[in-house]
Amino acid sequence: MTDRSSKPRILTGDTPTGRLHLGHWVGSVENRVRLQDEYDCYFLLANMHAFTTRAEQPADIRRDTIEIVKDWLSAGIDPERATIVLQTEVPAIAELSWYFAMLLPFNRVMRNPTLKTEIDAKGLGDTYSFGFPLYAVGQCADILAFRPELVPVGEDQAAHLEMCREVARRFDVLYCGVDSHAEDDDFVDKGGLFPVPKMLIGRVARLVGTDGSNKMSKSLDNAIFLSDTAKQVKKKIGKMYPGQSREPDEPGNVEINPIFEYADAFMKDTAGLDELKDRYRRGDNLGDGHVKAAVIDAINELLEPMRERRAEFEGPGGDDAVIDIIRQGTARANAVAEETLALAKEAMSLDFGRRDLSWR
Ligand code: ATP
Ligand code: MG
Repeated sequence: MTDRSSKPRILTGDTPTGRLHLGHWVGSVENRVRLQDEYDCYFLLANMHAFTTRAEQPADIRRDTIEIVKDWLSAGIDPERATIVLQTEVPAIAELSWYFAMLLPFNRVMRNPTLKTEIDAKGLGDTYSFGFPLYAVGQCADILAFRPELVPVGEDQAAHLEMCREVARRFDVLYCGVDSHAEDDDFVDKGGLFPVPKMLIGRVARLVGTDGSNKMSKSLDNAIFLSDTAKQVKKKIGKMYPGQSREPDEPGNVEINPIFEYADAFMKDTAGLDELKDRYRRGDNLGDGHVKAAVIDAINELLEPMRERRAEFEGPGGDDAVIDIIRQGTARANAVAEETLALAKEAMSLDFGRRDLSWR
């Protein structure tokens, strides 16, 4: 194994509110798989945050936590190289959340557009818990506990990441004496504890769902899951509406057809894709069924190796093997997060002693 400590760090993760889908793949997971050699990677299971919308479903959250790890492993994340982190067993994250909550004006959190969109999309109305907006503050701690340089996420996370960057700057200015006019890239060199992390948007910033309008989301029943069978993929794409009514042999509009969004995202054969688009635009005897068939093949080509890797964890003992991986990763993650917390407390004049965590 190569030396982790010399590499810049990455932190990103997923909330166990369901299984992973193609939106996660193009938005973030693909980048994680690609960057796991170059960076010291920490992938967080945000199981505490799952309670913000599913407090009454603890068993489902536990199941989804394990399923997401299976999704990661099948997608090509290697636990020997990357560190898998269980949020609820990293107490430094919860502690940092408190300190960071003091660095963010209440109204600043409540104006966060990602939270507003989620409240609408998930139909939370005005009855959501106090913990729901708090998760956006907690996410600053998820990230900064690992002092990463890079956070690979989908576009919907931009507002959250901006808040995290603000917290890093404010902490460094307030408690580490960094000049408030310093460039983001210079904060650590100028004595700051936290780097101001950069966002890395995936190849597709926001993949549309099979409903053709909302972003693909675990919570919106519009997702193609990484664990779907070939038959399920076929059925879901088959039911998609092409976004326009078009008579046979009439010109079609590639731009407003969500099936072509998938073709762009998943077809590797670019010459074939261009030809498909040309024929569709010309109304050249090419129905939506043709496009769908090409998309189904492309998606199944991506998912087939994942299905094969997943099979290793589907049998008896699969869950135990996953839990072992979670425990090993979380032990490693705690070493980093505890160090961050100790340094943060020192900067805040809270250095009354050091503690050790033990893990059973
Ligand atoms: P939920 O409905 O519970 O919010 P989600 O499907 O939005 O679930 P998250 O766990 O919130 O998934 O997001 C995990 C990561 O995947 C984030 O980096 C997010 O930006 C990215 N992501 C999620 N959906 C998409 C999408 N449709 N396109 C691109 N990236 C996405
Ligand atoms: Mg989300």
